[in-house]
Amino acid sequence: MSFTLAIVGRPNVGKSTLFNRLVGRRLALVDDQPGVTRDLREGDAKLGPIKFTIIDTAGLEEATDESLQGRMRMLTERAVDMADVCLFMIDARSGVLPADRVFAEILRKKSARVILVANKAEGNAGETGYYDAFSLGLGEPIRLSGEHGEGMIDLQEVLMPIS
Ligand code: GDP
Ligand code: MG
Repeated sequence: MSFTLAIVGRPNVGKSTLFNRLVGRRLALVDDQPGVTRDLREGDAKLGPIKFTIIDTAGLEEATDESLQGRMRMLTERAVDMADVCLFMIDARSGVLPADRVFAEILRKKSARVILVANKAEGNAGETGYYDAFSLGLGEPIRLSGEHGEGMIDLQEVLMPIS
């Protein structure tokens, strides 16, 4: 049985980078500049033996400060409704920011099934952010580096029972 996984989280945490790694084609745009990716992107993902549909939530990058929270809510709720499981990504290097807590609250209210990921944790980076992530109350985070491919086995292990 296949499943759908949505990657959610604030801009710049590394969602599209992980999406591209799992889809293996550059279907999602990755950019350092705001305003490039939009809305939701879907692809066929593979991680070890696991095959699934993956959704990248974009479209937050171009929002203004006033509209960001509303867009975050709308897009995240849409993604949650489409998905069987949400991969909620934080940036372990910048630690948990107020915007991350907004996502955590949306996911909790929606009773979404959540995999918490502390990204940008290659090498020994992001230790503080990783421990910070426990305070989101969404369980034990997975240390990941979407860019360098670290922690992919741990992600595979939590996805295995879902597949
Ligand atoms: P998104 O806005 O959440 O989709 O984030 P992107 O995937 O576009 O990545 C934003 C920035 O973070 C880019 O400069 C990426 O190269 C960088 N990035 C993504 N994943 C990692 C990672 O695992 N480690 C590090 N150090 N940087 C990353
Ligand atoms: Mg993106």
